[in-house]
Amino acid sequence: MIYLYTIYGIFIFFATLFGIVIGSFLNVVIYRVPEGRTISKGHSMCMSCGHELAAKDLVPLFSWLFLRGKCRYCKAPVPSRYAKIESLTGLVFMLAAILHKETALWILNTDVYFIYDFAYYVLFVIAGAATIATMMIYHDTGKGFPGLALYALIPGILSTTLLTLYTKKIDWVLSLKYTAIACLISAIFVILCKLSAFITKAEYTKADLGMDMDFAGIMLFAAYLWMGHYDVGLITYLSYAVAYIIFRRAMKGRASDRYTGIIAAAVVVILMIIRYFI
Ligand SMILES: [Zn+2]
Repeated sequence: MIYLYTIYGIFIFFATLFGIVIGSFLNVVIYRVPEGRTISKGHSMCMSCGHELAAKDLVPLFSWLFLRGKCRYCKAPVPSRYAKIESLTGLVFMLAAILHKETALWILNTDVYFIYDFAYYVLFVIAGAATIATMMIYHDTGKGFPGLALYALIPGILSTTLLTLYTKKIDWVLSLKYTAIACLISAIFVILCKLSAFITKAEYTKADLGMDMDFAGIMLFAAYLWMGHYDVGLITYLSYAVAYIIFRRAMKGRASDRYTGIIAAAVVVILMIIRYFI
């Protein structure tokens, strides 16, 4: 038993570190994607002195902490925002690891079904990373990228296939049925969002579509935590959809609208934590 908890602890630790590294990549995505720039090329440099940054200056989160938020070369303060996004991504990966104890046990278990659980964890963190990028780009620029939102929506739908296979011991027919339901309720989520804009005569931009697709996808994961209680999962999903739509419409056109993505994501995280404790 102690051995199992050691493995669980190690899994949580490395998942958190991995999240911090992915958060560093997200900083690049959030900064460059709205400008239409490539995310794979180019050196990082200090925004103040233009000094090219070395590997030791680019260790996610830890370089910033070690240098006390200052540039190594010119001592100009480095905005805490990069470290905050890295910490947030680390936190999401850590939370996902805590919620998926079975994923850690996969290392010890030869049962093929644990692979599904590990794949589910990977899909979840991809969707979580896409959601962080979507909400921060919306916050910064008011732009939205439906292409980026697909990184939350497609893993959300795929996780249905996986989870049904996992819990029903490879029942393809049932799995495809639940995948179809996941596609349907995601489509309903986005259509209701668009319809609410049409009814209130509000504009519906590509930014809105990107955000709505993203949250339709990430909410699938929150709803699936109610495995075995599909009715409660569905009620959770639909309640969230209604609250999300009312909130988004009420905030549209206000200066504080840029925070709506961040608030919507915080609610998903709270729902997941509540589920873990009940
Ligand atoms: Zn500098």
